[in-house]
Amino acid sequence: MANSSMKQPRSVALVDLGENLSIDLTKLGNKLNSLQNTWRFQVVSARPQLGDPDVDAIWFYIDRLFSELEKHKPAGEFDLVFGLTHVRLENRNNDLGFLDKDYFSLNDQARFAIATEAMYQWNSPDKDRYQYFGFLILLEVLQITAGTNLCHQKKELCLFDDCADREEFRPAIERYRLCTDCLRELRNAQVPNDIVKDAQRVLDWCRRTTWARSMQMTLANPLVALVIGTAVGWASSIYVPKEWYKLMFAFVLLVVGMVFISNRYYSKR
Ligand SMILES: [Zn+2]
Repeated sequence: MANSSMKQPRSVALVDLGENLSIDLTKLGNKLNSLQNTWRFQVVSARPQLGDPDVDAIWFYIDRLFSELEKHKPAGEFDLVFGLTHVRLENRNNDLGFLDKDYFSLNDQARFAIATEAMYQWNSPDKDRYQYFGFLILLEVLQITAGTNLCHQKKELCLFDDCADREEFRPAIERYRLCTDCLRELRNAQVPNDIVKDAQRVLDWCRRTTWARSMQMTLANPLVALVIGTAVGWASSIYVPKEWYKLMFAFVLLVVGMVFISNRYYSKR
């Protein structure tokens, strides 16, 4: 798999499988393209109507959905085809991975991958749906690009922790890293460094706390409350000379800004 074709961006079709996603796929594709140059994401027309679930009126077989993607003509010319869906997934194929229900995502180790929004309840409350899907997309396309299955049962808070226990998804997206074993595996698979860096850039975005949540955390911060309280006290005092307002205002902005930035970018590292 590792060859000179890696130098060109790989085209990835994004397909809405079942036409019931709550996100704007174009917005997701644009975001992912703005962060890296290894994969070119492009939305193609949706594949509606998946028929009835295969198991207990709930779960869809992943390998069956792969064959739906394979038959989907608008995605025919793409290097990789990624289906995003709202339905619940089950794997019945030993070659693809453990036999299990309720996968977050999976790939066929060649060209097709799928991720579902049905498992969104396990996402971190600090990340939004775009980050959730971005994380799962990266997880799968990086493995297809490396041509190897990187998931491991060892708990490393790594992107490739297999999250057999669904609750492990949350710490994974909050504190993800690529563990030393995975970095070595990627090197062994001759994945160039700039591809690993591209992957890390996307993952850095995935683990960023959303703007709304950062603001909420900032306003709940005791230091911010103290500084704003003090400033209001000062401002309401008639003894404060005019020039000092500006300084106080700047100081308040500085503290609020610093706490906000620390919440958004550096929490839970
Ligand atoms: Zn790892």
